[in-house]
Amino acid sequence: MRLCSARGWNLSSSHAYGLPLPAAAWHHSRRVKQTIVTLDMEGVLTPEIWIAVAEETGIADLRRTTRDEPDYNVLMRGRLALINRHGLKLSDIQRVIGTLDPLPGAREFIDELRTLTQVIVLFDTFEQFAAPFMRKLAWPTLFCHRLVVEDDRVTDYQLRLPDQKKEAVKALRGLNYRVISAGDSYNDTTMLAAADTGFLIHAPQNVIAEFPQFKAVDSLAGLMDEIKAALGG
Ligand SMILES: [Mg+2]
Repeated sequence: MRLCSARGWNLSSSHAYGLPLPAAAWHHSRRVKQTIVTLDMEGVLTPEIWIAVAEETGIADLRRTTRDEPDYNVLMRGRLALINRHGLKLSDIQRVIGTLDPLPGAREFIDELRTLTQVIVLFDTFEQFAAPFMRKLAWPTLFCHRLVVEDDRVTDYQLRLPDQKKEAVKALRGLNYRVISAGDSYNDTTMLAAADTGFLIHAPQNVIAEFPQFKAVDSLAGLMDEIKAALGG
């Protein structure tokens, strides 16, 4: 309850009754919740890396993504087995990634979004794959994992943290951020559920149908409109 003192100041009720507001309470009353946006990368800002590698190498089984296999560990173990069976090196994969561009409008989208609020890209793959895209997107903040490489051969992968997208959103909310998240696939749904507001973008029909609680948009322009509305709300 806000009261007006004799001197015309708006003060809290405890202060108005002559009690000094404790420092901690004053500090608390000054907290302002700010907003931050977390974005999935592949399928939102960039093409799917493994699909490009599958097309370039002719290894059709590499086309499977989190859209097809919800269990990330099953998916990654399968990919590593495939690339080693076919003698594919890290530098071969990096060469393919280097030929890829972000999705049309992605650079402009993230440039504009970064003028409006803070943005973190949450990428469920690896540092070694990310750099070419980060350069083309003007180096947004990126959280991702790391491959284990021996003599240019990918022998394993190391997750910095299981379910890092969800954990990042939870941690940001613990820092008093209101989190808006967007992603395209199964591996984004725990992040979207943890966020204050979650959007699906470019999602396949099966994901949209399975997660009707998340508003689905089909373009970066549509996502920008939704984020602007959420920022203003
Ligand atoms: Mg994705």
